[in-house]
Amino acid sequence: MGNTILLADADQQLVTMLKSLLTGRGYVASHAASGREVLEHIGKESPSLVIIGEQLTDIDGIGMIVKIRKSYSDVKLAFIANEWREADLYQQLTKDYRVELIVHRPLKPSLFAAQIDSQLKNQAAIKLSSGSEQEEKTFLTLRSRFAEVLPTRIALISDAIELATIDNTNKDLTAEARRLAHNLKGTASSCGFNLVGEAASHLERALVQIQTNGIDDLAGAWGEVTLLFEAVAQQAHSELKHNKPTQNQLEQLADDSAMAKVLLVGSEFFIDGKEALPNGLPIKVIAASSTADALEKASAITLDAVIIDMDNSPKDSIALARELRGMNGYESLPLAFIAKGAAPEDRIETTHAGASIFLDKPLQANALKEGIEYLLGVRQGGRSRVLIVDDDEDFSNIIAHALGKEGMLVKVLNNPEGCLQAMENFLPDLVLLDVLMPGISGYDVCRRLRGSSRWQDVPILFLTAQTELDARLAAFDAGGDDYLPKPVAPVELLTRVKVRLERARLLRERADRDILSGLFLRRAFMEQLNALISESDRYKLVFTLALLDVDHFKKVNDTYGHLAGDRVLAHLGQLLKRRFRVEDLRGRWGGEEFIVAFRHEGKETTIGALARVLEELRTTEFNGDHGEVFHVSFTAGMSSYPEDGRTIEELVHVSDQRLYLGKESGRNRIVGTG
Ligand code: GH3
Ligand code: MG
Ligand code: MG
Repeated sequence: MGNTILLADADQQLVTMLKSLLTGRGYVASHAASGREVLEHIGKESPSLVIIGEQLTDIDGIGMIVKIRKSYSDVKLAFIANEWREADLYQQLTKDYRVELIVHRPLKPSLFAAQIDSQLKNQAAIKLSSGSEQEEKTFLTLRSRFAEVLPTRIALISDAIELATIDNTNKDLTAEARRLAHNLKGTASSCGFNLVGEAASHLERALVQIQTNGIDDLAGAWGEVTLLFEAVAQQAHSELKHNKPTQNQLEQLADDSAMAKVLLVGSEFFIDGKEALPNGLPIKVIAASSTADALEKASAITLDAVIIDMDNSPKDSIALARELRGMNGYESLPLAFIAKGAAPEDRIETTHAGASIFLDKPLQANALKEGIEYLLGVRQGGRSRVLIVDDDEDFSNIIAHALGKEGMLVKVLNNPEGCLQAMENFLPDLVLLDVLMPGISGYDVCRRLRGSSRWQDVPILFLTAQTELDARLAAFDAGGDDYLPKPVAPVELLTRVKVRLERARLLRERADRDILSGLFLRRAFMEQLNALISESDRYKLVFTLALLDVDHFKKVNDTYGHLAGDRVLAHLGQLLKRRFRVEDLRGRWGGEEFIVAFRHEGKETTIGALARVLEELRTTEFNGDHGEVFHVSFTAGMSSYPEDGRTIEELVHVSDQRLYLGKESGRNRIVGTG
């Protein structure tokens, strides 16, 4: 795809690893160890991306970034840091020096490669609007969204105060007025209505006093509240006048970036607009009329799933599925086919192409929704999911919008009571939690989540208009990871959320995935396989287990070099990832051995699907470290549950025996019996 990457670091080990990783994914990677070489290289070659490490021979990484930006304002930069730094530095690097991506060592290469892919894929889009322009746009949108709802909120406060004044000893009414003022304080300032925010904070303070201290002159205090409220209303009026959203901005409000996006190819059936799935997740279905249209949309929009109608041409549908999964960033894109009778003749073809489910014709709206829900559920990795728990609807929608614009999938929960259930359904990667909510406080919600083993590690960020030190300490005490006072600057919120997500992801990935191939490590694979066994046992379903071993791999290393060997392993890992269904399990068993478990499929189908992958591998040209061309093959042994065994040990043993038989009888084959 012609993307060139410059690796700028003096650490030979890091460079070697990145180089083989990136070239394995089709990039052209060069290397420079000194600042002088880096500048020369950029001047001559204009690389698509420069990846900078902590230390070059004559300058440190951050100094290098500053130096590059002095002479080259356009080149795309990524920074690999050795350790966690102050949030200020991140902001400065991303904002002032426009570093697109910051990651930390130890690196998780498969994740890193995916991030590089998405950086380079999105290049055109990013060029269109520079960093600060994008921020400005987000902020404008926040402001005009809030402008729309501000009058209603003022009216609500007015009503609450009136009620409380009439029954001025009723503490609940006072508390409600206070809550509304408190929320307005946080949201207004976050959205650029600073004077409203400030006035609301005076109002809140007066109400708190009435609520907590026995005030002697109650009537006088309420008179004061009325005056303070009028100040709020007046500020709202004048700030609204200056913040009238333009038509253009209003159009932006219809933005759908927080929704799950599903591409529906070649089907006359269509659901439009803000549909919601049974689990409450908003979805947007995008129609594509042809293969070309589908590919174009897939590269312009970040998709979460694809559904292809096979009826026009099954062959084209399968080719399209394969092509989509071959695109950078879409290795694990969940796929479904729509087919008459839901029973395509060629299961081998469709398993190989990676269809998770088949939807029957005529298509019912519910079947489509359930199908989409299933697809989004099997998706591994993909977009980061953020759950916002905040009783302030406007504020949560505004934040949801800002995060959605950054490509995150966001769910909003205004009633904290349903939090655990929402967590189970939505499986968020991060939670933004308000503190002051009716019924239950954010601290208690946090404690509850931390009390369940499932949510011990999910990052939780408190977002609240309470700013006192005590509140801060209570947040950490309850098990929160971070604390953001409202008003919150959108840029700061985004930075903190991204940093947290990145860190959580790194931790998870580091423990589970193999660096070179991007597949599960043996232990993580075994865990998933155990779950597959109990699932298959419960529902009386079959599955197949394949053990693969690259043929004569020692000779590949000896003849073409160890790096060439690594490229073979990385390529085979990618191939296994892009083929088959998202919910099939793939792992690196060790050395040059891989393992795949095909969910709910018997050997007849899976042997055929794996044979196609063998064919694809055999016809792939690899380059030796000195440019020689060579080919490789593998041998596989397969077993199926429960026919060949009921435990992992038994199944692996049978697969291994058959693999050995395959090696004995000439390699380059798949053995499923004997
Ligand atoms: P066979 O067809 O019988 O499987 O022969 P083989 O040469 O593939 O089998 P053998 O098990 O003798 O050799 C496997 C080799 O794979 C030895 C080891 O150095 C190499 N290897 C294991 N892990 C890696 C790796 O991560 N990268 C590279 N380049 N080589 C590896
Ligand atoms: Mg081998
Ligand atoms: Mg071996």
